[in-house]
Amino acid sequence: MSNLETPTRVNPDEITPIAVTVGISARHVHLSRDHVETLFGTGHELKPFKELSQPGQFAAEEMVTVVGPKGVIEKVRVLGPERKKSQVELSISDCFKLGIKAPLRDSGDLAGSSSVTLVGPAGSVTLPEGAIIAARHIHMHTSDAEKYGLVDGDRIYVRAKGPRGIIFGDVLVRVGNAHKLEMHVDTDEGNAVGLRNGDTVYAYKIHGHISELVK
Ligand SMILES: [Zn+2]
Repeated sequence: MSNLETPTRVNPDEITPIAVTVGISARHVHLSRDHVETLFGTGHELKPFKELSQPGQFAAEEMVTVVGPKGVIEKVRVLGPERKKSQVELSISDCFKLGIKAPLRDSGDLAGSSSVTLVGPAGSVTLPEGAIIAARHIHMHTSDAEKYGLVDGDRIYVRAKGPRGIIFGDVLVRVGNAHKLEMHVDTDEGNAVGLRNGDTVYAYKIHGHISELVK
């Protein structure tokens, strides 16, 4: 075996992990001011229903129906506050049901993403783009990021233990003063590993793509 073919192994147990709580993100919609009014009526304000773990974010009472070329998903929760652009976050399973091929994206990166129609009690809107499968990520306060030597936009590995345990690669790190330490995965990813809301996973400060973990 040449040097190039020698496996490079990283033993996660030799590295001190960062314990992170998991939040499973069910499908949801973020709406712009315009679209809140189109779907729920002129002057309508989203009504907070439940605070989310990330500071300032809330699940609203409002729900919409998401319509694709092959199917419909009802009662999709709207999350607040409003955003500059509407964004629909779906799982791959949801996309099969709707008949769309939404791209895997970091939140907010919507250029060229999928079109869907949203229907509310006061009207409907077809987004020319805005439906994505959100890339798994870890929210991290600036002080945590400094402590761990990570910066916004880093991609790291995260280990989920258990009978269907797995090491997630390419976990985006999102840093800011309005972020609280928590990993977000979608329902497909959570179910595949048997993760539940509030479980603990272990993040490693190993940068890079999963294919680089074992060469
Ligand atoms: Zn998140």
